[in-house]
Amino acid sequence: MLENLTNYFAEIPSSHRTIIIVAGLTIFSLIESAVPLFSLKYNRWRHAVVNIFFTLTTILVNLLLAFLLLSASDWVVESGYGLLQMIDLHLGVELIIGLLFMDLLGSYAPHWCEHHVTWMWRFHAIHHTDQHIDVTSANRHHPGESVIRFVFTIAAAIVIGAPIWLIMLYQSLSLTLSQFNHSNIQLPKALDRILLLFVCTPNMHHVHHHYRLPYSDTNYGNIFPYWDHLFGTYTVVDNQKLKYGLDTHMTTREVTSIPSMLRQPFRPYRGRIEYDKEELL
Ligand SMILES: [Zn+2]
Repeated sequence: MLENLTNYFAEIPSSHRTIIIVAGLTIFSLIESAVPLFSLKYNRWRHAVVNIFFTLTTILVNLLLAFLLLSASDWVVESGYGLLQMIDLHLGVELIIGLLFMDLLGSYAPHWCEHHVTWMWRFHAIHHTDQHIDVTSANRHHPGESVIRFVFTIAAAIVIGAPIWLIMLYQSLSLTLSQFNHSNIQLPKALDRILLLFVCTPNMHHVHHHYRLPYSDTNYGNIFPYWDHLFGTYTVVDNQKLKYGLDTHMTTREVTSIPSMLRQPFRPYRGRIEYDKEELL
C-alpha cells in the first residue's frame, strides 16, 4: 500500500498535478461560500484574477526549473548523499521524516528568511499586501519569490537526500495545505484544535496575515505547526480581531495592480514599525 503511494508519486503525471491545484481551488472556495470566516464583502472574482495571475507565474517558474530539482534528486539517490540515503529506514518512517524536514527546510526556513532578510522581504511583501485572505491567496507570490523558494526546495532535497516520490508528495501536500490554511473558512473550535495537532489551519495561518508587526512575524508554518512551536514563533489571536494586509502598502493600486506589484521589489525599501503585542489595530 505504501509502495503503491510512493510509486504513484514517483511518476505522477503533470495532468494530475494540475488536477490537484484546480480541485483545491474549487473545493476550498465552495467551503468558503458555505462557512466563511470573514464576511465576503469584496469582489471575489476581481480578487481572484490578480491572485491567479501570480499562481500561474509560480507554476511557470516551477515548470521551467523542474529539471534542476529532478537532477538534484537523481544525484542524491545515485551518490547516496543526504540524510535519508545514509540511513536505512522503514518506508513509512522515511515518508514521515522526509515530509517533516522538507517542510522545515523547504518551507519554514525560506519563509522565515523572507521576513528577516531585506532583499527577500521585498519579493515576499506582495504576498502580504492582500487585504482579503482566501484560497486564492495561497500562491500570490512574486516570480522572484517563487525562485527563492525553489532554491530552498533544491537545497532541502539535497540535505535530506529526497527521492523523487518524496519531493512530488511533499509539493502536492504543501500546495493543498497552503490552499487550506489560506482559505476563508470558519472551522468549529473543537475541529480546529484537533487539526492543529497535525497541520496548520486557517485560524493559525491567518494571524500571520495581520497587517502589523509583530503578528506577521509569527505562524510561518505551512504543512506542520511543530516548527513554530519549536522555534517560539507560534501565536494565537482571535481571528475576528485581525485586519489583513501590509501596513506599509495599503493603497488600492499597490494591492491590486499586477504591473505595480511586479515592480514592487525594485522600489525604495519601506521599513516597518514594531508595535506592542497588545496593540493589535
Ligand atoms: Zn509570510
